[in-house]
Amino acid sequence: MIEEGMADIANKSCITFRPRDGDEYAVIIQGTSSGCFSNVGNSMSDDGDNIKQVLNLAKGCFRHGTVVHEMLHTLGFYHMQSSYNRDEYVAILWENISENHKHNFKKYTNDTVTDFGVRYDYGSVMHYPDTAFSINKNKTIVPLQVALKQTSTKMNQHQNTRGRKVGSSRVI
Ligand SMILES: [Zn+2]
Repeated sequence: MIEEGMADIANKSCITFRPRDGDEYAVIIQGTSSGCFSNVGNSMSDDGDNIKQVLNLAKGCFRHGTVVHEMLHTLGFYHMQSSYNRDEYVAILWENISENHKHNFKKYTNDTVTDFGVRYDYGSVMHYPDTAFSINKNKTIVPLQVALKQTSTKMNQHQNTRGRKVGSSRVI
């Protein structure tokens, strides 16, 4: 399933995956911690220190959408709803999100993220489902442009939000 995830990304992009050559910098794909999470992008420090870059896929992570989601984090993608312009597309219902999960709904400025001119995608595999991290089963994300949402595939592709944040740069 990991190989299928890589093949899917490779087939739809210019990205190629290959096994590590010698001691070059690489991502470690493991299942030793609980949860599904990854560093976002290359995690090597500026002074070249080989900080471990980890993609963790525990037992419950083996759904195609989840594997691809975490791999895209590894490649440098943040969540769709973290986009600088997300307030034009979704409302975040903070009252339905527990305090210790609010960081998952952080927004990044366009100094940090870019959409490369691609429109907000409600159906993105990088978009949280509409009840992600809900404390009361009520919605935590509500689309504001219903017509646009209907042209996207279902918002719930990334159902598996289980896992935990480990370290400041890792997301699930
Ligand atoms: Zn994620």
